[in-house]
Amino acid sequence: MRRNASLFFKLMPFFIILIIGITCILFIRMESKFEEEEEYRFKRSSYSLISGTVQNCKEWLLSQALILARDKAVKESYIYDRPERIKNEFSDFWGLLHKDFGVEELHFFKYPDENFFSFSSLSAEPKILKNRKDVVFLQTAVIPSSYFFVCKRYPGLRASYPILVDQKVLGAISFGISIEKLANVLQSSVSEKVFYLLNKQVMKKNLDPEFFESWKKKSMKEDNLFYYYHLNETLPYQYLDEKTYKNGKNLFFIYPLEDYKGNIIGYIGVKRNYSFFFNYIYYITGLFLVTAIMVIVVVIVLSFSQTKYLKNQRDTILQLLTLVECRRFGEVENFYKTYIPTKDIFDSIIGKIATINKRLKSHIDEMYGKLKTTSKKAFIDELTGVFNRYALRNFHKILDGLNYSVLMVDIDHFKSVNDTFGHEVGDKVLKFLVNKIMDSIRIKDKVFRYGGEEFVILLPETSQDAAAKLAERIRKDVENSEINIGNFKKIKITASIGIAERRDGESIEEVIKRADEAMYRAKKAGRNRVSD
Ligand code: GH3
Ligand code: MG
Ligand code: MG
Repeated sequence: MRRNASLFFKLMPFFIILIIGITCILFIRMESKFEEEEEYRFKRSSYSLISGTVQNCKEWLLSQALILARDKAVKESYIYDRPERIKNEFSDFWGLLHKDFGVEELHFFKYPDENFFSFSSLSAEPKILKNRKDVVFLQTAVIPSSYFFVCKRYPGLRASYPILVDQKVLGAISFGISIEKLANVLQSSVSEKVFYLLNKQVMKKNLDPEFFESWKKKSMKEDNLFYYYHLNETLPYQYLDEKTYKNGKNLFFIYPLEDYKGNIIGYIGVKRNYSFFFNYIYYITGLFLVTAIMVIVVVIVLSFSQTKYLKNQRDTILQLLTLVECRRFGEVENFYKTYIPTKDIFDSIIGKIATINKRLKSHIDEMYGKLKTTSKKAFIDELTGVFNRYALRNFHKILDGLNYSVLMVDIDHFKSVNDTFGHEVGDKVLKFLVNKIMDSIRIKDKVFRYGGEEFVILLPETSQDAAAKLAERIRKDVENSEINIGNFKKIKITASIGIAERRDGESIEEVIKRADEAMYRAKKAGRNRVSD
C-alpha cells in the first residue's frame, strides 16, 4: 500500500505534464477551429461587402448613364450632330459627377468610331477613336454594361450605355470612376484595410506610358503578374505573403475585377491583421506551458532535494537509535549537544530520542547501582565485611590449576562468649578476629566467613610451610590481644587453625575439607593451636 502510494507520488509530475499537455492540445485545437471559423466568417462577410460595393458602384454609374442616354437633348445633339449642345446642357451635371462623385471622364461616342464629345477635355472637337475596343464591342452588343477596364489614363469601373434613337444605336455614353475611388468607397464601409492589385500586362498595354510610369510608382510591390496597391498605409508587401497568411498573421479576401469580356484584370480586396489576437493566444498558451513546465521542474527538483534531505534525516535517526540500542549513550548526548535545529518535525524526533537516551541511561545507571549493591550483598558477609561462603564459588575458575593453601580458623569456645557476654559481644569478637586476620594477610589473600565463627583464608601461591607460618602469626596475634567489650571490660580469645595445601587434581572444596579436618585435630589436641 505504502509502496503504491510512493509510486503514485513519484509519477505525479508526469501525470501533471500529461494533463497540461492534453489541455494545451485541446486548447490549440479549439483555437485553430475558432481560427478556421473566423476565416470563414471573414471571407463570407468580405465577399458580400466587396461584391455589394462593386455592384452598387456599377449600378450607380449605369443609372447616371441612363439619365443621360434617355435625355432628349442628348439624342437631338446626336441626330443633328450638335455636340456643343451636350456641353451646354450637361456641364453642370458633369461638374457634379466629377467633383462630388469622382467620375473621371464622360465620353459621348458616335457610331461607328468617333469621340462625339468628351467632358474630360471640354474644348475638344469630335475626333476619330483609336482602339476603344470596349465601346466598339458595346456598339455591336447593344446593351448597357458596367465593367472594369484600363484606359489610357487610369484603371477603374466604367459604365457604357447605348444611345438609342428609333431602335437604332447612334452611339454610346461611357464614363467611370478610378480604381482608387472604388477602393475608397469600399474603405469607407469596412474596418479592414483595402488593397487592390492590377495586371501588369494589361496596365502596360492600355495606359499611356506617362500614366503607366506614375501608376507603377504608386505600387508597393509587384510580382510576375500584378502590381499591388495598399490603401492608406505604407505596409510592406509581406501583408499579402502566403507564408505570413498561413502563419496566422493575416486574413485577406480578394474579389475579381472583370473587364467587359469577363477577363480578370485585377482584384480588389480587404485584409485583416489578426496577428495581435491570435499571437496573444499563442503567447498565453506558450507562457502557460513554459510556466507549467517550470513549476513542474521546480517541484521535481524540490521533491528530489526533499527526498534526499529526508533520507539523510532517516539515516541520522537510524544511527542514533543504533547508538541507543548499543547503549552508547554518551555519543547520543554529544550529538544532541552539537545538534543544529532544522525547525521541522525532525527536531522533535531527535528531542524524543535524546530524552529516551537520557531516561534509559539514568534507568540503567540506577539498575546497575542497585544490582551492584545487591550482588555485593549476595557475596559479602554483612557483619564482618569479608566474603561469605557463596562467594567461594566465584573463585573456582580462577584457582583452577593454581597452587594455593587454605587456612580454616575457628574461635575456641565461642559459644561461651555468647553465653557469658551476649550476642553483641560475640559479634564484636567476630569483627575483632577478622581485623586480626586482615592485618596479617596480603592483598591477594582472600577471607571468607565459612560458618558462624569459622573463617576460610585462601592463600594463592602459598606453600604449606608459608601457610603454617601465617597461621601461627594469626593465632599468636589473637591470643595476645585483648578485646574491649565496653564498661571498661576486656576479654581475650583464642582460635584453632587447620592448614591444607592444595594437592594436584583437588577441588577447593576438597582442600577446605582437609583444612577443616586439620582444624578439628587442633581442637582435639587442646585448642589454641595450628594443625595440618
Ligand atoms: P569449639 O571450641 O569446639 O569450637 O566450641 P564453640 O563453642 O566455639 O563451638 P560451637 O559450634 O559449639 O559454637 C558456635 C557458636 O557460635 C554457636 C553460635 O551461637 C555462635 N555463633 C554463630 N554465629 C554467630 C554470630 O553471628 N554471632 C554471635 N554472637 N554468635 C554466633
Ligand atoms: Mg565452630
Ligand atoms: Mg568454635
